[in-house]
Amino acid sequence: MSPADTLKNSPAFLAHPFDDDKLKEECGIFGAVGVLDAANFVALGLHALQHRGQEAGGIVVHDPEQGFNSVRRFGYVRDNFTKASVMEALPGPIGIGHVRYSTAGSKGNTAMRDVQPFFGEFSMGGAAIAHNGNITNADALRRELIEHGSIFQSSSDSECIIHLMARSFQNSHTERLKDALRRVEGAFSVVAMTRTKLIGVRDALGVRPLVLGKIGDGWVLSSETCALDIIGAEFVREIEPGEMVVISAENGIESHRPFEQKKSRFCIFEHVYFSRPDSILGGRSVYETRRQIGVELARENPVDADLVCPVPDSGTPAAIGFSQESGIPYAMGIIRNQYMGRTFIEPSEHIRNMGVRLKLNVNRALIRGKRVILVDDSVVRGTTSRKIKEMILDAGAAEVHFRIASPPTQWPCFYGVDTPQREKLLAATMSEEEMRKHLSVDSLKFISLDGLYRAVGEAEGRNNASPQYCDACFSGQYPVEPSDQISKGFKLQAAE
Ligand code: SF4
Repeated sequence: MSPADTLKNSPAFLAHPFDDDKLKEECGIFGAVGVLDAANFVALGLHALQHRGQEAGGIVVHDPEQGFNSVRRFGYVRDNFTKASVMEALPGPIGIGHVRYSTAGSKGNTAMRDVQPFFGEFSMGGAAIAHNGNITNADALRRELIEHGSIFQSSSDSECIIHLMARSFQNSHTERLKDALRRVEGAFSVVAMTRTKLIGVRDALGVRPLVLGKIGDGWVLSSETCALDIIGAEFVREIEPGEMVVISAENGIESHRPFEQKKSRFCIFEHVYFSRPDSILGGRSVYETRRQIGVELARENPVDADLVCPVPDSGTPAAIGFSQESGIPYAMGIIRNQYMGRTFIEPSEHIRNMGVRLKLNVNRALIRGKRVILVDDSVVRGTTSRKIKEMILDAGAAEVHFRIASPPTQWPCFYGVDTPQREKLLAATMSEEEMRKHLSVDSLKFISLDGLYRAVGEAEGRNNASPQYCDACFSGQYPVEPSDQISKGFKLQAAE
């Protein structure tokens, strides 16, 4: 069986047979230093970040006696990094790890060579990196590097960083990493390690998250705070946009500013969907933000109905907020089967074609004869929304009203989130009324961009002259020009 077939039949892949109608975060990253057996902490951290990438994961560690070691595997962290035989091969007080959902590189067909962290041997010793985000000039960089003799081992954009480090003339890993990242455009949060140093960096706009935590005498870096909680680490602070932190036993934490200072443009979709609801982003509880999105959605788009039901699980906090604001009772009208991925290890094509029904089922007794408001986080292709609507109507609902906790997704993301091409995005090709007819629902309404900004704490809404977040997938206004895509023919929105 080829690696791609192995992946397609893995529980991790089968757990999400219909999730191609969701945007997917590319990666989660985690690093630890100054702790006994860092790999155990990294594995637990990656387990808590599994929602950011389920295709594959990897861990690199360094031990003063045994040097660098690494393990990379397809599938869930829990299935790969819990076995004693694997963890015993990963000794040492410093380590980094990565969970992957492929965007750049061999999309949907992950090869082992694309599984991070990536490792490079330099004149001053080895170093490994793990990257969350997407390099928007990776094609141009790769061409240039290959012309100058670099031999790439993977199809991943992130490998450019290792080759750019190799070409730098600086005499420390830290300075070489700065040189490399100054050539890189796009979005990146990076954790890197040498024999003694753990390094964390965010791009100048801070598009993707990265936080710092403390555990005993050690330190950790993580995509999200939920991974600090699982190991009992204390949240210290977010790594700031454009900041590099270098952490070592000798010097503690050093903060560097390798890039030109810019106004932060954090990904607003992290608040809507990607991050876990128990994480803290920008000092705000993700759960509370999502509940507030539901409140704004109910204010902007009221409708007479009997029940507010979430599309589980990501629509749940917004549905709670919608119910609280509207006074319409909240109910679990759709039940999610949490064990589907473990039950159908190798389903037949016929079973897999059941799609949504494998994972979601309607609570018929509750729904029958009711006017139902369904709250979901987003509409991408609309295929899942249609199937859910059919299930609700089959169960005897009198009316179905969709309320969506994000504005219409009209543009692809080039900053580390897997989005279909623009033509495949329902909202890019249809008006709201056309989408309503296409989905055959009684009403369909999205939160406005201003409403979303209010929910994330911007009382005045979006500052159109200088937006506070990246919202390119809704607005078409890309904070970093996606140069590779433009050279492949992608058309930016015409200036007004
Ligand atoms: S384009 Fe959308 S998903 Fe991508 S970084 Fe910007 S807000 Fe986030």
